[in-house]
Amino acid sequence: MAIMVTRSSLPPYEEYCEEIRKFWDSHWLTNMGEEHQLLQQRLKEYLGCPEVVLFTNGHLALENVIAAFDFPKGSEVITTPFTFVSTTHAIVRNGLKPVFCDVDPVDYTLDDTKLEDLITEKTVAIVPVHVYGNLCHVDAIDRIAKKYGLKVIYDAAHAFAETFGGVSPALFGDASMFSFHATKVFNTIEGGAVTTKDAALAEKLEDMKNFGIRNAESCVFAGGNAKMNEFQAAMGICNLRHLPEEIKKRKAVFERYSERLAGVNNIVLPHIEEGVQSNYTYYPVIFKESPEDTPSAPVSSGGKKRRDRIFDRLKDNDIIARKYFYPLTSAYECYREQMEDPYRVTPVAAWTADRVLTLPLYADLEPENADRIADIILA
Ligand SMILES: *Cc1c(COP(=O)(O)O)cnc(C)c1O
Repeated sequence: MAIMVTRSSLPPYEEYCEEIRKFWDSHWLTNMGEEHQLLQQRLKEYLGCPEVVLFTNGHLALENVIAAFDFPKGSEVITTPFTFVSTTHAIVRNGLKPVFCDVDPVDYTLDDTKLEDLITEKTVAIVPVHVYGNLCHVDAIDRIAKKYGLKVIYDAAHAFAETFGGVSPALFGDASMFSFHATKVFNTIEGGAVTTKDAALAEKLEDMKNFGIRNAESCVFAGGNAKMNEFQAAMGICNLRHLPEEIKKRKAVFERYSERLAGVNNIVLPHIEEGVQSNYTYYPVIFKESPEDTPSAPVSSGGKKRRDRIFDRLKDNDIIARKYFYPLTSAYECYREQMEDPYRVTPVAAWTADRVLTLPLYADLEPENADRIADIILA
């Protein structure tokens, strides 16, 4: 059987059955039922965050939280192209203009030193991404946002179960979005949440995800439908119980790769920042053509060719790694025409996207298979 880049975590079959058995008594399958409320409560405690609003998926969580601020149409939102398309789509689908900032060459998150140059009178918000679970430079971003009166909404899809100095990223900025998609470190099949300290914002989001309905005879605005259902919530309750074990096993695979690949010329391994408790969700490796191949002096497209060759060689062995994130969101056909050349405006992001490969990483990946993957790369 092929080894995929990830494999969804499932609780023991009997445990999930036990969790959902009550639905056959209550016949309550969605609409913020008992299980939904229970997961919401557990996540508030787990994240140490006063407000957690559950959504049917992470994307709609992000789209709705951006919408909740009622920014004037056509306003500019500073973000990065080194992310999953969802981040850019959520901005665009709100009638706002994404303005792409380059990323930091070490942690691939928004480079705050390039942020101020991009701010105009039309800028209303910053949507940074905690890439691979590397946390953004939150203090610097916060300082700049305050100075210019901008909102900060984090795409924290990768950062669930992490802490920075003991604090969850759920508390950063004006709000954060977490994804509980099947491929993420914690899943509710599909699912997501917005976290915030702002009770009024949370209340508005609760209405937005349920048609703007306040009660049986009151509908206060034209909301959509983005509710997490009871089966999703039940999966979350079960998976949350196993999360510490899940992360421990991921850590073992992560460390195995690091042991095997450390000190090899022209490859850059993931680094975990000081003070960050990682969730070991991804194992991104950068393949350079030579020591001189850096974002400030890229050596032709040799690095990309090398990355693609390793991707193909792994595939020949039934191992499916992922060029993640590649292409940049600004390079997709739906944006390319309207955007400036990514190699010019976001050179570090473009350089990184051309050379990165995320290796298979999930809790039950056998150490022998991690070794086999490392051996193919070394060869
Ligand atoms: C997964 C992901 C999303 C979207 O979340 P879904 O739950 O799949 O809708 C958004 N941004 C990033 C960075 C992601 O990885």
